[in-house]
Parts: sequence; structure tokens; C-alpha cells
Amino acid sequence: MLLTDKKVAIIGGGPGGLTLAKLLQLHQVTVKVYERDIDRNSRMVGSPLDLHFGSGLAALRKAGLMDAFKQHYRPGADRMLITDNQGNIRLNDHHEKPEADFGNPHFRPEIDRAPLRNMLLDALNPDTVVWNSHFLSMDKQGTGWLLRFKDGSTDYADVVIGADGANSKIRPYLTDIRPFYTGIIMLEGLIHDTAQTAPRIHALMQGGKIMAFGKHKSLLMGSKGGGHMGFYISFKAEEHTLQEYKTICSDRELLSTWFRKEYDTWGALWQELLQATEIPLIPRPIYCMPADQNWQAQDNLTLLGDAAHLMPPFAGEGVNMAMLDALELSECLCETNHSNLKEAIAAYEMQMRQRAAKIAQESLDNGERMHSEHSLQTMLDLFESFG
Ligand SMILES: Cc1cc2nc3c(=O)[nH]c(=O)nc-3n(C[C@H](O)[C@H](O)[C@H](O)COP(=O)(O)OP(=O)(O)OC[C@H]3O[C@@H](n4cnc5c(N)ncnc54)[C@H](O)[C@@H]3O)c2cc1C
Repeated sequence: MLLTDKKVAIIGGGPGGLTLAKLLQLHQVTVKVYERDIDRNSRMVGSPLDLHFGSGLAALRKAGLMDAFKQHYRPGADRMLITDNQGNIRLNDHHEKPEADFGNPHFRPEIDRAPLRNMLLDALNPDTVVWNSHFLSMDKQGTGWLLRFKDGSTDYADVVIGADGANSKIRPYLTDIRPFYTGIIMLEGLIHDTAQTAPRIHALMQGGKIMAFGKHKSLLMGSKGGGHMGFYISFKAEEHTLQEYKTICSDRELLSTWFRKEYDTWGALWQELLQATEIPLIPRPIYCMPADQNWQAQDNLTLLGDAAHLMPPFAGEGVNMAMLDALELSECLCETNHSNLKEAIAAYEMQMRQRAAKIAQESLDNGERMHSEHSLQTMLDLFESFG
């Protein structure tokens, strides 16, 4: 096996990095995950994730983690409403979505980010993850790499895998291609105890998700475990205005004034979001890697997940692509007959880039649809075309 007697370092303990660590350990590979979070209890932000049959769930099946997943996913959280900007329901799939049917390729169960991470962590050998390891840089040493971390510590690895997300510090060692801004920004909010604090939206949501569309704008909401709810205010914004949103998001009064002005034709129902949300909201300008990116394969370094192919979240594919990367990379490294590491990594990277370019284009197209002049009708037509 190509990784026999090699030390593998995965930089980043997100879903992609942890899935890869588990799959490599099934082949007895010596692997460490270096994660900048202080420990596993660091607060996880972000929307719940729906895992797909042929990608995220395929990786979990291979890792032997489906039983664990079934204990932690949130039944019913995948059900969805589409409303107009007044909150009138225009599409309701609550009675159409398959019941918990893990053999059905259309079943896309949702899981919150923290339980997904905990489940993957619990599946690893003790001390696989080196917490509080903020990677800064690395230098070639022999045939491998000397890794340098923010606290001054160093470590050696024969093979390095960058799974460190959107702002990867590993990516520049392979390519100087940078993500581009898509023209869309999402302001992320969190509401606790939704039944009490945002009762009308809570009742409408019924434990699932709501996508509300108006001209060039949307509001996206989803229930979370523990009675919480996450939401995004999503709209187009010029790149030079992005800085302003940090200020707006940090001040409830500024935010409310801004929302009343920008969402002035929207129904009063949505004011609940602004009244109940934690402050600050997190501004998330949406970036994407160019579809035609390419780089020379190396024999001791590669990327996966957002570090390799950051894409907008409008097709719900980011985490699924990261976990499928982990599955395909582990197979190229441990199960195929490549004669050397460079050949195995090149084969993985070629299929990963082609697949990701196609999905990133779908995500970009969805982003345009969701923020178009006739976004509501465009999205209803899209969902109808799925049958
Ligand atoms: C607003 C928004 C909504 C989204 N919604 C969805 C959705 O509904 N469905 C979906 O599939 N995807 C969604 N995504 C995308 C999804 O979150 C990512 O695609 C997915 O998390 C990628 O996984 P990853 O493991 O590659 O990277 P990440 O999840 O970003 O993990 C990277 C890890 O690396 C660590 N790290 C970073 N830098 C360093 C460093 N220098 N040293 C050490 N550690 C480091 C981080 O702390 C983190 O733990 C959304 C993204 C955004 C921005």
C-alpha cells in the first residue's frame, strides 16, 4: 500500500478532513488531523447539512458510520416550504418527502454540524486530532514537509492533505488561483427557543425549512436541534460594500433599520427574525473557485473539500463534495493499483476537479435564480422540473 510507513497530516478537522482520517485509519494508515479549534466543544456555526445518497452518505457507509448517523440525524428537518415574500405558501413538500428510507437515493437526511463532527471524532483512534493547532506555513524537509503552527510548535509529515476550508493556507503551495466573489452575500443569524421567540415562523416551519423569495432577495430558514433556528438574509451586494455589513450586523437597531429599508415590500411576519436573533449576525460573502482551475500533481500534497473547490451553498453540495473527496482520495491512496503516490494523487485530483466544476456551476446557477427579478416563479419552476 502506498501509505505504508508514511505519516499523513490532514490540516483541518471539518467534515472532509475527519471523514478522510476515518477512512485512512480503516487501512491502518498513520494519520493526524491538525485543527485550529481549541477543542471539540468549540461553537459550531452554520446551517444544518443534508447528506446525499451518492456522496456524503456514501462516505459514511464506507466508513461504517451509518448506524451512528441514524442516531444523530434530525428526522423531518429536510421538509421544505417555498413562500412568497408575504409568507404565503407556494410549495409544500411535507407530505411528499420520503420517510426515513436510507435506500432511497432521493432521501436527503439533515444533521446539525456539531453532531456530525462529534460522530466523526468518536469514530477516530484516540489522539488522532491535535486541537489548537493553527497551521501557518510549511517547508520541504527530506521527501516530506515540516509543518509550522501558530503556537510555535512544528511537526513532520510525509504527506499533507489540505482540508482547511474556504481560506485554505495549504492551497497556495499547489496553486495561486484564488476564489472569486459571486456578487451574493448572506447574513447568518441564530435564534434560540424559536417556539417562544419567533412563534409565527416556528409554526410555519413545522420543524423543517422555509425558503422565501422576493425580487432579487431571499430569506432562508431552517430548524436546528435544541429548539433553535438558523436563518440567512441573502441578497446581491457590490464587492466594495461588503465591509459595511460587519457594522450593520453588529448593531440591532442598525440592522432593523437596514432590513426595513431593503426588505420594505416584505410581510411583517419576517420582523420576528430581526427581533429574536442573536447579535451579531455573521456576514458571509459567497465566493467560488474558478471552474477551469488546474495544477500540477505532487507526490506529497493534495487538497479536498472547500480548500480545493469552494462553491456557493445554493445546491446544498459543499459538505457532500468534501466527504466524497475523502472517499475517492482514500480509495486512490489505499485501494487502487497506482504505482506511486504522484500517480494516485493525480488520478484523484483529475476526477475531483471535473466533478466539482460541474456542481459548482449548478450552485452558481441556483444562486442567480434565487436572486433574480422573478426569483419566486423561477424557483417554483425549478422544483416542478424535478417532478
Ligand atoms: C452560508 C453557508 C451555508 C452553507 N450551507 C450548506 C448546506 O446547506 N449544505 C452543504 O452541503 N454545504 C453548505 N455549506 C458549505 C459547507 O459548509 C462546506 O462546503 C463544508 O463545510 C466543507 O467542508 P470542509 O471539511 O472542506 O471544510 P470546513 O467545514 O470549512 O472545515 C475546515 C476546518 O479546517 C479548520 N481550519 C481552517 N484553517 C485552519 C488552519 N490554518 N489550521 C488548522 N485548521 C484550520 C477549520 O477550523 C475547520 O474545522 C454552506 C456554506 C456557507 C458559507
